[in-house]
Amino acid sequence: MKKALVCGAGGFIGSHLVRRLKKEGYWVRGADLKYPEFSKTDADDFLKIDLRYLENCQKALVLPGGEKFDEVYQLAADMGGAGYIFTGEHDLAVMHNSAQINLNFAHLYEKYKKLFYSSSACVYPQEVQMDPKNPGLKEEMAYPAHPDSEYGWEKLFSERLYLSMMRNTGVPVRIARFHNIFGPEGTWEGGKEKAPAAICRKVAYAKDGDTIEIWGDGEQTRSFLYIDECLEGIRRLVESDFTGPVNIGSEEDITINNLALMVAEIAGKKINLKHIPGPIGVRGRNSENTLIKEKLGWAPNYPLKKGMEKTYAWIEEQVKKKIQEKDNY
Ligand code: NAD
Repeated sequence: MKKALVCGAGGFIGSHLVRRLKKEGYWVRGADLKYPEFSKTDADDFLKIDLRYLENCQKALVLPGGEKFDEVYQLAADMGGAGYIFTGEHDLAVMHNSAQINLNFAHLYEKYKKLFYSSSACVYPQEVQMDPKNPGLKEEMAYPAHPDSEYGWEKLFSERLYLSMMRNTGVPVRIARFHNIFGPEGTWEGGKEKAPAAICRKVAYAKDGDTIEIWGDGEQTRSFLYIDECLEGIRRLVESDFTGPVNIGSEEDITINNLALMVAEIAGKKINLKHIPGPIGVRGRNSENTLIKEKLGWAPNYPLKKGMEKTYAWIEEQVKKKIQEKDNY
């Protein structure tokens, strides 16, 4: 039985990844500051620990009889949506906390057989994302580097850290650059949520004919990838002999205004949009999937609308629960 350690197993992608690995027959240990928020973890073992401390990472990597983990999935990071990443208020936390975790796992390379690292589309330079009709970000465009956030700089540093580790120690590494992953059981309120979840929440709270607020003019474009496709990409990459970094993202880009209208249509509500100042990030960001097709013979193709239907249904349920709790209070 293969054994995997999932760091960040209490988070959105990590908790789904644990479920996926269990379905594939793995023995899984999860590690995170917190348990998953919306469902019980499927991990065989779960350590509630702070991975910024080397001794906690060491503890997470111990198996009976000195056995090594077959795979470490390093997803733990201090992150959030635009409201968290782009205001500047959390820059030190974002850089320091995530880098510290990655330095620890690079230091402990002798304790596992292979490591997967979750990087981000945020590594790409601002200059190649000025056009809302962005034709897509190819992996080699990451250099010369000029990410638009400290979050992106930390990801780029940690990509290089793990690539150096592989070069100097021979421990295999797989690196993916995720592009806006969304789906049920993701953060949907509180300030760390991403655009798809925030829009679903606003629409779910709105009555027919209401107005919701959108940051900026809403003409900025993004592509969003449904969680199941992200997991499929991770697993295919880890099983392959390709190191990456490689994009795991959708090529179906959409403006934020149209995303809001899509959600309104799914909800069956007429919704007006009011544009307000707010952090918006780059003007256009889309995935370009030539490399993943070439190396893995696969690329995501699940339609955005289907993913948004599932996500809206889940967020609507959460909103209804919240309203009911308030009424009972
Ligand atoms: P998430 O915030 O839901 O999960 C990250 C988890 O890391 C959280 O549960 C958090 O508690 C944990 N964590 C943070 N600091 C920790 C610490 N010191 N010790 C232990 N655990 C700690 O985020 P996610 O959306 O599931 O993202 C997972 C990974 O994928 C992250 O590395 C993120 O940067 C990357 N990524 C995500 C997206 C996306 O769209 N969701 C896009 C690009 C990259």
